[in-house]
Amino acid sequence: MKPDFSGFLREHAAADLAESWQGAGINHIEVDNHNAAWYLHIELKKPLPAAVISQTQEKLLDVFPFLSTLEIIPALEDWEQGITSLLHIYAHENNNISKQEWNRLNWVIDGPRLDFLFEADRDFEVFINNQECSLISDWFRREYNLRILTRALCTQPNFESCLENRHEIKALNVLALRETSKKKNQGKRAYQKSVPSADSVLIPISELQEGMKNIVVEGEIWHKESHLLKGGRYVISYFITDFRDSIMVKTFADNLEQDDIKPGQWLRISGSVRYDENSREIVLFMDAYSLADKPVRNDDAAEKRVELHAHTKMSAMDGLTEVKDLIIRAAEWHHSAIAITDHGCIQAFPEAFSTAKKVQKEMGRPIKVIYGVEGYLVENDRKESPYHIILLAQNDQGLRNLYELVSYLIWITFSGIPKFLALN
Ligand SMILES: [Zn+2]
Repeated sequence: MKPDFSGFLREHAAADLAESWQGAGINHIEVDNHNAAWYLHIELKKPLPAAVISQTQEKLLDVFPFLSTLEIIPALEDWEQGITSLLHIYAHENNNISKQEWNRLNWVIDGPRLDFLFEADRDFEVFINNQECSLISDWFRREYNLRILTRALCTQPNFESCLENRHEIKALNVLALRETSKKKNQGKRAYQKSVPSADSVLIPISELQEGMKNIVVEGEIWHKESHLLKGGRYVISYFITDFRDSIMVKTFADNLEQDDIKPGQWLRISGSVRYDENSREIVLFMDAYSLADKPVRNDDAAEKRVELHAHTKMSAMDGLTEVKDLIIRAAEWHHSAIAITDHGCIQAFPEAFSTAKKVQKEMGRPIKVIYGVEGYLVENDRKESPYHIILLAQNDQGLRNLYELVSYLIWITFSGIPKFLALN
């Protein structure tokens, strides 16, 4: 049984709002402490207008003033019924599709996925060219805050232009198309290394939709794979991320030497988005790419802060960062000091010390390491549920105390969990 969201609202916000959320349950809450953001994933009995959702968000932001973002992400208990009823409203409100056309449409709903199925090649093309998928998906987002992945699929296997959806020899078909279009460019390469054309639009990966043409994305390649096709050519798949979302990018090559894209590179890629039957998801088919500079994150604050609570990879489940990366980044941002506070351990200290020395010498940036530990504080008994506590050493004596405390605690608790008794 899911926690009752309308009850939560009645208790924390306003009763009149609670009314609209009758029957809604809390699926889960995503907490982003760093950005003071909460994302509430709420399951609804039936879709709610975006206005009600944003009103509720504002109300809750008043109630939790320590948050800078609070977003409600609705889901439906019964997607099929919910989406179907909304589609009828959509057809009624938007006349970009005629009544007859609408009545001919077939669709299947699987969770938040909506697939329009086309038997006729021409209808499919018209639907894609009118960007119907994006329009419908945007409408769901705008009117009901629902994120629906909307796609158009051609089910008729005999039409030439339903390229990606031709069953087994699908990839070869795309290959043929690529070749003819490349012949015009007289290059032998299956894809060009060039600056994507100026009329393309740069789009965040999270906003890619099936049917988009001539768009550009930017991101880091984190993995690639290649497969030999029956015709002797290769299909190469790159996995690209802009650190908010990711997508698979595909291209074709005569041999693997043609492919000089490497994981770790930051690329700008132009192409078209289509559903790919092999990968069973939307894929960006690459037309061209160019190397680009990875955007660097800066700390633009006029008055720099000092981080007093930072975990390195020495904190199991709480940190992945190398201590040297942490210190170099703080120095790059002109921070004067940084605290290292792993969970009940001091293993990162020697490297922190040597990195700070090196940074001063090589970058000319003095940075002070504040040595600390994060522990758990209990009043009387180690079985109590503890509070978090950050201990920072002020001087040599403090550092010595920290070492002793940590050794003592590890010895008496026989675990990595440093529970401090408030009394000692
Ligand atoms: Zn912590």
